[in-house]
Amino acid sequence: MHALITGGAGFVGSHLARALLARGDNVSVWDNFHTGREKNLPAATLAMEFHSIDIREVTAANLPNSRFGRFDTIFNLACPASPPHYQKDPIYTWETSVLGVRNMLHIAEAHGARLLHASTSEIYGDPQVHPQGESYWGNVNTVGLRSCYDEGKRAAETLCADFVRTGRVDARLFRIFNTYGEFMHPDDGRVISNFCVAALKGASVPIYGDGEQTRSFCYASDLVAGILALADLPREKYDGPINLGNPGEFTINELVGVLESVTGKKLEIQHFPLPADDPKMRKPIIERAQKILGWSPKVQLEEGLTKTLAYFATEIQ
Ligand code: NAD
Ligand code: UDP
Repeated sequence: MHALITGGAGFVGSHLARALLARGDNVSVWDNFHTGREKNLPAATLAMEFHSIDIREVTAANLPNSRFGRFDTIFNLACPASPPHYQKDPIYTWETSVLGVRNMLHIAEAHGARLLHASTSEIYGDPQVHPQGESYWGNVNTVGLRSCYDEGKRAAETLCADFVRTGRVDARLFRIFNTYGEFMHPDDGRVISNFCVAALKGASVPIYGDGEQTRSFCYASDLVAGILALADLPREKYDGPINLGNPGEFTINELVGVLESVTGKKLEIQHFPLPADDPKMRKPIIERAQKILGWSPKVQLEEGLTKTLAYFATEIQ
């Protein structure tokens, strides 16, 4: 099988590339290193090739030749994902989400490939329903600081759904809830990377707002297992977007407590203003993934944080 991963030099994509190589697939990675890093890529092997591609610009007519031939499956992950990074150039973020997925859908159609698209819990916005199941339509500001990402991802879902409805592409959507693990960038800016790096440096841990907002944290290997299960699902069994996340729910203050127990250190805290439109709570309902994919996350936060801290310790040396 020949899999293409867009955004394969990023955090999630680099885990996915390793998992696909480990099961014997040929893997093409497209990335423009907007937030990804060359060092995240798996060691060079005959089963993998890399192309520097911006998915906002690539079309079925101008894509690079691959020695593996046509794509069987396309994993469309390319997009900055952390709030500081996706807000740095909001127009770029929206274009990557919307024009990028349009281009990838056309390429999938030309190749007869299945397309797996990385959507997000952000499509639920600042939710008025808790926890969030796939049938909830969300509460999203169309003109706020997070809108480039949230609305870009919502438009991408719409386009995928219409390509499915019109029978043009076997496209599948998975909505990722806050995921963490090895290969995150130390400057990624998300809560887990910021807290781990601060704890390792002996600096104070930055809490935005009062720290009573909640998130659910999924370890990378669990997420990848869910993505692969969705990729392997027979076409007739796919029936709409699927949440992939760990339903454990923690306030940001509780996250500090877990980190203290993992590091065995009392951590200093510094408070900063809560960013605009920061969702107050997030927790996935994962019954759909459990039923359709037979998938559940296995790695609890303490275990995942222990591994992630060990990774960041080598990164910041
Ligand atoms: P990341 O920033 O580490 O990786 C994104 C990758 O996409 C990077 O390698 C970047 O260089 C590449 N990229 C960005 N714009 C591109 C473009 N125009 N053309 C080609 N490559 C481009 O982020 P991540 O955490 O690995 O996220 C991967 C995907 O999962 C994203 O689509 C993100 O929206 C989604 N997601 C992630 C999380 C999470 O918690 N990590 C949560 C929800 C959704
Ligand atoms: N957050 C924080 N300190 C940080 C980074 C983030 O308190 O250094 C908060 C942020 O305001 C949000 C939560 O932690 O409420 C999760 O933020 P993250 O950037 O990981 O992703 P989000 O789930 O908001 O997309």
